[in-house]
Amino acid sequence: MLIAIFAAAAIGEWVTSLVITAFVIAAEILEDLTMDRGRDALSELASFLPETVEVRQGDQIVRTPASQVVAGQVVVVSPGGRVPVDGTVVAGRSTVDASRITGESLPVDALSGEQVFAGSVNQLGVLEIRAERVGAESAYGRIIAAVEQAQSSRAPVQRLADRLATWLVLVAIAGAVATWLVTRDARSTISVVIVAGACGVAAGTPLAVLAAIARCARHGAFVKDGEHLEILSTVNTAMFDKTGTLTEGIIQVTGVFPAPGATADELLRLAASAELHSEHPIGQALVARAQVLNLALTEPDDVGYVPGMGVTASIDGQQVQVGNSRLVPQVGNSGELAGARTGARVEVACEGRWLGSITQSDSLRTTTSAAVRDLKSMGVEVAMLTGDSQVVAQSIANAVGIDEVHAHLLPTDKLATIDAARAAGRRIAMVGDGINDAPALARADVGVAMGSGTDIARESADLVLISSDPSDFVETLRIARRARRIIMVNFIGTVVVDLAGMILAGVGILGPVLAAVVHVSSETAFILNSARLIPGRTREMPAARPVATGTGVRPERDRSGRPRTG
Ligand code: ADP
Ligand code: MG
Repeated sequence: MLIAIFAAAAIGEWVTSLVITAFVIAAEILEDLTMDRGRDALSELASFLPETVEVRQGDQIVRTPASQVVAGQVVVVSPGGRVPVDGTVVAGRSTVDASRITGESLPVDALSGEQVFAGSVNQLGVLEIRAERVGAESAYGRIIAAVEQAQSSRAPVQRLADRLATWLVLVAIAGAVATWLVTRDARSTISVVIVAGACGVAAGTPLAVLAAIARCARHGAFVKDGEHLEILSTVNTAMFDKTGTLTEGIIQVTGVFPAPGATADELLRLAASAELHSEHPIGQALVARAQVLNLALTEPDDVGYVPGMGVTASIDGQQVQVGNSRLVPQVGNSGELAGARTGARVEVACEGRWLGSITQSDSLRTTTSAAVRDLKSMGVEVAMLTGDSQVVAQSIANAVGIDEVHAHLLPTDKLATIDAARAAGRRIAMVGDGINDAPALARADVGVAMGSGTDIARESADLVLISSDPSDFVETLRIARRARRIIMVNFIGTVVVDLAGMILAGVGILGPVLAAVVHVSSETAFILNSARLIPGRTREMPAARPVATGTGVRPERDRSGRPRTG
């Protein structure tokens, strides 16, 4: 545009030169406003937590900077206030709006003993919360860190956009030279330079990526970088882990079946002791059951976790194994077990001798079936990868409508399944939660971790679903595809408008002023096209509604207290 303005001035077209300048400035202002809106969506995210918080010190309440709060302190949050830390409610009763963290808009009860998260808004009464994770450690802090990281990384499509923009400028200059050589007409030549604009791709592309990431965050999904958002848009197969991903992973012990000569209590006591520090939902269920029955658990020694199989440990000097029949092959039969054949179960052995089986149940996440249906309707193939037995896997698959089932897999088998599928040309998003899923998450085109999952799964993944809701994955996929479509429309639109404009300008149909109109209006249109992805401002906090505490809808919670959305 600078070249054009000076050239117009040089041949005495002062008015043209001024008009173009005015257009360009107007367009710049509009574009800046739009880009600011994109950045605001992110900084609004970052500035949501309060800067100072009230901390209880004995009988006193002291106001301190949020950055000085440490885990273990009790913070006091008034109604309408924002919860500054992840922690447990120790006094007060209220409901909180956790929609910023989970995407779930229903108020969640906050009673003594419940978990609340930084970034939720306290709605009804004063809450005292014992801080467990503060600052960057909190769920909200991690979202911010991830979004900032995503912002500074550049998606491949952005590099493509920059190359395209450079190329458009060069073509415009070449076109102008050609026009001059052929027509010797200064006005046409200048018009050619003026008409070609590249901001629609150069600025529109990063805006679309940024806006899409912010939009995903608003839906409770955080994408670690723009590159993976881009890859996600091309995914055609979603592979789901079963336990903790398709299902709640909140396992209940349904039966304890001792081998002849063993007792139920001893069986459960040994199994639960071995699992005392287990991160696996099955292990945690055994421990919970043993605690309910008041069994005296023993601190395990030499604990070994065999992913996809179970655990081994030494309890009071005895070698105990808890896991599936891969780990405990010497399974015998206990008459009553026959009826429980189809349910999930683990086997327990002590000193190489089978001690009995423990059966469990797990319930499906409420949104699993809908998510599978939506994915299929979007043309995405859905598969299940699980370490559990074929029978259990198949019954879950039937219930949710998954046709492709890979069962009885070790973590390395999960990896091999992903590799084989990729080699067959499928583009895979792997969704999982466990240690056993981590390698597969890292290997898939896009790894997706459940927020309720293990740290290692969240670290290995490219995308984390904070609320652990499979339908949030569907929404993220939609946003990724939409971002891609928008960017492509901008690419093609820019090339078409620029080339058509240059031809019309070259043959003298488009004068300099009209050329400037075409330039700025097309560019603005493409930037506004990208801006459609910018998420709306969050609604201001709803006024405290007279919801009787205790009757509010409470999303189920998993063992770690993270809210589940329904
Ligand atoms: P999924 O792939 O469904 O998440 P995993 O790979 O975590 O399942 O586990 C596969 C199987 O290995 C389980 O169904 C269970 O039989 C056994 N297993 C794994 N971890 C444990 C454990 N900590 N305690 C007992 N059994 C376990
Ligand atoms: Mg799992």
